[in-house]
Amino acid sequence: MNMKERFMKALKGEEVDKVPVLSVTQTAIVELMDQTGASWPEAHSDAQKMTDLAVASYEVCGLEGVRAPYCLTVLAEAMGCTINMGTQNRQPSVTDHPFTQGVDDLKMPENLLGTGRIPVVLETLKLMRERVGDDVPVIAGMEGPVTLASDLASVKKFMKWYIKKPEDFQTVLDFACDACIEYANALFDAGADVISVPDPVASPDLMSPDSFDKFLKPVLQRFADNVKGPMILHVCGDVTPILEMMADCHFLSLSIEEKVKDLKGAKEKVNGKVTICGNISSPFTLLAGDEEKVKADSFKALEDGIDVLAPGCGIAPGTPVANLKTLVAARDEYYS
Ligand SMILES: [Zn+2]
Repeated sequence: MNMKERFMKALKGEEVDKVPVLSVTQTAIVELMDQTGASWPEAHSDAQKMTDLAVASYEVCGLEGVRAPYCLTVLAEAMGCTINMGTQNRQPSVTDHPFTQGVDDLKMPENLLGTGRIPVVLETLKLMRERVGDDVPVIAGMEGPVTLASDLASVKKFMKWYIKKPEDFQTVLDFACDACIEYANALFDAGADVISVPDPVASPDLMSPDSFDKFLKPVLQRFADNVKGPMILHVCGDVTPILEMMADCHFLSLSIEEKVKDLKGAKEKVNGKVTICGNISSPFTLLAGDEEKVKADSFKALEDGIDVLAPGCGIAPGTPVANLKTLVAARDEYYS
């Protein structure tokens, strides 16, 4: 069984010889940027550098897949958001929003797939495939429709419309969903095996479980139903209250953080409808923990039935290569 077969089977909940270990969230770290010469912020806009940095986490750390890009702003930028490209250890962020005035002006760019950094990401998927071949999974990352909608409107307006103008709230969500569908299908056309979709604004930290059920779940379902390949949904924070609804969003798998305290309980809640990737703490274990901690957390996750051993959220840029290598070694040791 090669790495790609193992990962695809694990995502579907089919039997595998061992649980795959990789990251479905952001993978770039400063140590690898220095080793490869492919550093943030340049690597966000340069297909060769984006590829070199992604491939390093496979070649150097041993993660069983390659993933790009390293931010949640590519589609937002193409849709008209202003982006601060960040620094070597700070991710790009949205600093200005095109549709704060209301939904009447919503307009899809004429050539969305040729706009901003989208061509860079599409090119990177092809380059990554050339570098790693057919046996290693190529994962594309992109922001989900809820996060995109809030980037287009600004979080402030997005929340205001939710309370005071539910029709406008729905309109901007639908608009964002349309863009996500077009972009996601292009990512598959460019060679992605799987798309990983962090949608942090859908977190119970920001939106109530009720709003998830009523507004966000139908949008996420429509997104998944109209995309041609398998996707993983990542929502930040303690998603325990919305796990069953997330399992109903028609994604193949869920990626969860360690903030979901009870992984066994989470597996029971999703009841075989989806598999679960995670849930090794990015800040506390991979960034700040030592070898013992990485091992202990990995064994616990494997013991509790994790389907893909992975960081719980985006890897912090200051994370040492050694801890990512230990994550892989821990999985190997578990089966030895
Ligand atoms: Zn997260």
